[in-house]
Amino acid sequence: MNKPLNIFWFRRDLRLEDNAGLYHALNNGESVLPLFIFDQNILDKLPKDDARVTFIYETIQDLKKELQKHGSDLLVKYGKPEKVWPEILKEYSVEQVYTNHDYEPYARERDDSMVEFLNSEKIAFKTFKDQVIFEKDEILKADKTPYTVFTPFFKQWHAKLNDFYIKAYPTKKYFKNLYQTKSLSLPALKDMGFEKSKLDFPKISYKNKLDDYAKERDFPALNSTTRIGLHLRFGTLSIRQAAKDAIDAKSSVWLSELAWREFYMMILWHFPYAAFDSFKKQYDKIKWRNNEQEFKAWCEGNTGYPLVDAGMRQLNEIGWMHNRVRMVVASFLSKHLLIDWRWGETYFAEKLLDYEMASNVGGWQWAAGSGNDAAPYFRVFNPELQMKRFDSKMEYIKKWIPEYGTKKYAQPIVEHTFARDRVLKVFKEALS
Ligand code: FAD
Repeated sequence: MNKPLNIFWFRRDLRLEDNAGLYHALNNGESVLPLFIFDQNILDKLPKDDARVTFIYETIQDLKKELQKHGSDLLVKYGKPEKVWPEILKEYSVEQVYTNHDYEPYARERDDSMVEFLNSEKIAFKTFKDQVIFEKDEILKADKTPYTVFTPFFKQWHAKLNDFYIKAYPTKKYFKNLYQTKSLSLPALKDMGFEKSKLDFPKISYKNKLDDYAKERDFPALNSTTRIGLHLRFGTLSIRQAAKDAIDAKSSVWLSELAWREFYMMILWHFPYAAFDSFKKQYDKIKWRNNEQEFKAWCEGNTGYPLVDAGMRQLNEIGWMHNRVRMVVASFLSKHLLIDWRWGETYFAEKLLDYEMASNVGGWQWAAGSGNDAAPYFRVFNPELQMKRFDSKMEYIKKWIPEYGTKKYAQPIVEHTFARDRVLKVFKEALS
């Protein structure tokens, strides 16, 4: 048996710098062996060319190289955590396990059973806040209940924010406490059943976008948003660093976008049913049409509504869609086509590189009217007007729909006024 050590378990915090759990582990005395598990409970549900798995894989390779420079390495396992952990305990003499909080329903269940298992082995399981500035119970109403509307949440979030909360954890200082080992093996991507994706991953390079963000963020043809969702999702960028950069650039609008992310995470924590059911429960009475052919046309970007189609094709081709267009395509699916928002949410979950359960469910329910929004359900986006307002020169449309303006382009799948009247009637019936 090797000498006693502590383990730091990476999950969605794939970086060595400014990592709260890693910092606390390294600062504890025992040497620290970092671990990553390719979790079969998650991977088995993904398509074999899932680009996010390639992203994680490449990030893991980088982490290994970095750790090897310090005489250490990343222990990488493939399997179900409940099976992998007993194996690790046979290989290493583990005293404590450190990790960062993870708020999604599956992660909560997994961690609850980890606590039980590790405690039964007399091993402490210590977890820390890392992926958010403020978590679940830090921003509450006066009566200690969670906010369900963003504006007052953000007011308090912003008022509470100070240097303490965005200070980086100086992990580097303690790298000498990394467990020293010879190189450890890494399972091959194809042995886990995956192919290398051909998609490009956006780089962390956003500071030049912050000055004009407020002015330009709504226009999909301008490449003016930061594309950092993927990095926040997997923790290749620290949220504290991002918030600090927003403050330094005096970009309060971009800072508020980071707070939207936390708002939805807080909602998912307090209302986990909203991952699958309508946040406002009476919306589950809506009689969706759920026409499969229309759903297919939407997925493929063939609805005959140019802004909707351009967005869906952007998503299918690069694994990302501009926020303004996400709102339009989501509203179109749930309102114009009366297709259950969960169908759209599932499609986005498969395709988005920056897929984040809390934000995706939040965004979809916002668009369908069933979520955390004060606006009434009868706000139905008009996709033609949205296009005129946000892509008046049709640059975005032409970029993603090469056949636009020719006979090859699809006819509108449904007439706008008819669709609007239909959804208002169906929603009214369900909600009255
Ligand atoms: P920027 O505009 O540069 O913003 C920076 C970061 O702030 C984003 O990366 C994200 O982390 C956060 N952010 C910005 N807007 C929002 C928002 N409205 N809600 C929550 N966080 C936000 N965002 C996701 O990260 N994952 C999702 O799965 C997701 N699904 C969505 C589904 C729908 C139907 C809608 C309407 C929105 C969704 N969003 C989602 C929110 C938003 O569209 C994306 O965060 C944004 O477009 C990502 O691009 P960016 O990184 O360039 O963002």
